[in-house]
Amino acid sequence: MAYFDFHHHDSKNFSGIYNLVLYETPPIGFFSAGIHPNLSAKTTENQFHWLQEIANNKYCVAIGECGLDGLINIDDGLQEEVFEKQIHLANELKKPLIVHCVRRFSQVIHFQKKAKVPMVVHGFNKRKTIGNELQKHDFYLSFGKSVLQNVNLQEFVKDFPTEKLFLETDDTPFDLHTLYQKVADLKKIKVEKLTLQIEENLKVFNIPLLK
Ligand SMILES: [Zn+2]
Repeated sequence: MAYFDFHHHDSKNFSGIYNLVLYETPPIGFFSAGIHPNLSAKTTENQFHWLQEIANNKYCVAIGECGLDGLINIDDGLQEEVFEKQIHLANELKKPLIVHCVRRFSQVIHFQKKAKVPMVVHGFNKRKTIGNELQKHDFYLSFGKSVLQNVNLQEFVKDFPTEKLFLETDDTPFDLHTLYQKVADLKKIKVEKLTLQIEENLKVFNIPLLK
């Protein structure tokens, strides 16, 4: 059984959404394309041009990862400018946004007002108060490996609506089955039911499943 990996960086992984590297030729399968906040200091017209082109590809199912990062040494204003441009692109193409956020949650919530498409905060592993705030604002959350160890996060995932949830490996490949099983156990449902619900969530995103 293939478990959908909502956000990953492994071009050989065909189940899920591969996060394309800037200027890379897309591999087989679905991918997302965006400009990471890390690159916002050096973002050029060329990069946006590349993004606009590639984002039109039918296998490009989301814009991102993009967002705001409070731990990198790049001016917030610059990061916000690059993020906002990508929100507009996502609106135009009606493709959801995969959001990278570090210590800038209230700003990301503010920017959500500009988005006409769903926003998924990927790799969510923060405090329950932040999670609740995102939930209140209708964000989707994608959870990764932290759920396997972080007891507070487990508590949060247990009550977080399954209709708003995705699971991912991000940049450290591991057996995704263990994460699906863990989340199913926390929610006291069968892993098959969880898998089906995630398939439903993907339909909302217009993401067809690769068979
Ligand atoms: Zn990532």
